[in-house]
Order: sequence, then structure tokens, then C-alpha cells
Amino acid sequence: MSAPATGSEPADVLIVGGGVAGLTAATFTARAGLDTLVVDADESILARNAHLENVPGFPGGINARRFLDLLAEQAEENDVRRETGRVTGVERSGSDTEAFDISAVGNDDETRTYRADAVVAASWSDASYLDGLGVETRDAGSKTYVVVDDLGRTDVDGVYAAGRLTEKYHQAVVAAGHGAEVGLTVVHDSEIPYYHDWVTPEGYFTDRGREVPPGCEEIDAAERERRDADARERIREAFAGPHPEPQRTHPSLVDDELGRLDE
Ligand SMILES: Cc1cc2nc3c(=O)[nH]c(=O)nc-3n(C[C@H](O)[C@H](O)[C@H](O)COP(=O)(O)OP(=O)(O)OC[C@H]3O[C@@H](n4cnc5c(N)ncnc54)[C@H](O)[C@@H]3O)c2cc1C
Repeated sequence: MSAPATGSEPADVLIVGGGVAGLTAATFTARAGLDTLVVDADESILARNAHLENVPGFPGGINARRFLDLLAEQAEENDVRRETGRVTGVERSGSDTEAFDISAVGNDDETRTYRADAVVAASWSDASYLDGLGVETRDAGSKTYVVVDDLGRTDVDGVYAAGRLTEKYHQAVVAAGHGAEVGLTVVHDSEIPYYHDWVTPEGYFTDRGREVPPGCEEIDAAERERRDADARERIREAFAGPHPEPQRTHPSLVDDELGRLDE
């Protein structure tokens, strides 16, 4: 692992943007054992949604801000580190050409520098911080998209991109799915002996004379029941009342930089 620049511990993976794609990618890389840091400007476009009705698993829909909270909670549960800040530049580390130094401006207007071995851009709709690396992009009107291969790799080794920033359809589940795919690509490109991220009942592999493959876990009945009880309790808590944050709209429509409506 690389040495830190300033302001933070070094990361195996630094993900720019903690919206739908970034948090999902982070959950996958962290679950595979990669030290993962998300630096996020905290303005997911999904926060403007008025009721999220097409994400699998929520037949009655879900408050979009709650959905984002749950993604963040899930990332943290899996040991993702998160910091608030706007990334302004990424360059090759002078001391180690395999690593990257990433600059970001925090809420306190201070600039911090991070070091990471891989970078995932999931920062709809800002890719300007990649200019210095010469990553291939495509301009379309006022937007710039990052060009990636089928698995989320850019044309610069160690730099990946995910979600709407890569011109994927503008839907939350598409961004989440792409984040998962790109996270797994980062894992497969690392030295981790990785198979699938699966949790199975006890004996699923071992009772057939097989080793539990890397990335998989067998759990017994007691552990399954413990996790199920915990999951039910946490879902109950999360959905106990209305979300405290106000609805947001397009910031050009109200006198608030985040587009928050008076309610
Ligand atoms: C009004 C509205 C309603 C919508 N309704 C639906 C819907 O009903 N169903 C649906 O499926 N989809 C809906 N969408 C689309 C959905 O919100 C997006 O497709 C999805 O959020 C894209 O995910 P993403 O991770 O690519 O981007 P985002 O979720 O926007 O996340 C990007 C993150 O990157 C951060 N970021 C940007 N630049 C930087 C930087 N330089 N440094 C650090 N962080 C940075 C942002 O602050 C943000 O947190 C809606 C969108 C809008 C605008």
C-alpha cells in the first residue's frame, strides 16, 4: 500500500462521489477487503427525486433521501471510510507512479490530499478533476462523460468510472448496478483472490467436499437468525417515520443552493 500524502490514511481505492454508483461500488470493494475511501460533495442528484418508485425491492417506492441514507449506512457497515469534499485534481504520485494523489476541498475550504492505488470517478456531473491525467472523455452539450470499457475501466490504468458519469441511463438502479460492476472490476484487477461475494447456508460448499471460495461465507442457522433479526430491526427503525430532510427541487427554482423547498 502507498504512503499517505496529507490529511488522511492512504486508501487502496478512492471513490470520487458518494451517490448511488459511488456508494455501491465502495460497498463491493470494501467487502472484498480493499481499504476504500469515498470523497463526496454530498449532492446526489437523486435527492431531488420526489418518490422513488422503480428501484427493485420497494413495491411501495421509497423516499429517495432515505434510500441514499441507507446506501451510506450500508457502505459504512462494510468499513467504507467517507469524507465530505469536492475533488479538484488527480495526478500520478511523484514517488510511486502506480499510485495517485487526489486533491479535494472540504467544507472548511481547506485543501486535503489523499493517496490511493486506484481511483473510481462516480461524480455525476463533474469529471474536470481527471483532466490532468488525460482520461478520455466525451462532451455532449453542457455535460462531459467519461469513456469506459464494458467493465468500467478508463484508458488510464488504475482509473475507473461508474454511473451516470459514464453515460449510463439516468436511473438509480442502473447507477447502482454499474457501481457494483465497476467495484468488482477493481477487485478483479487487484491481487485479491476473488470469486463471488456470496453468503450461503452452512455446508453449501463444504458438505460437497469443496473449500469455501474466496469472497464467500457459509453461516450456520444461529448466525442466519441473528442477522435476520438484526436486519428486521434496522429496517423497522429506518422506516419508523418520515425522513427529516426537506424535499429538494432544481436549485434554479428556489432561493437555496441545494434546492430545498420550504415545507
Ligand atoms: C428530479 C430527479 C428525479 C429522479 N427520479 C428518479 C427516479 O424516480 N428513479 C430513478 O431510478 N432515477 C431517478 N433519477 C435519476 C437518478 O437520480 C440518477 O440516475 C442517479 O442518482 C445517478 O447516480 P450517480 O451515482 O451516477 O450520480 P449521483 O447519485 O448524482 O451521485 C454523484 C455524487 O458525486 C458527487 N460529486 C460530484 N462531483 C464531485 C467532485 N468533484 N468531488 C466529489 N464528489 C462529487 C455529488 O455530490 C454526488 O453526491 C432522478 C433524477 C432527478 C434529477
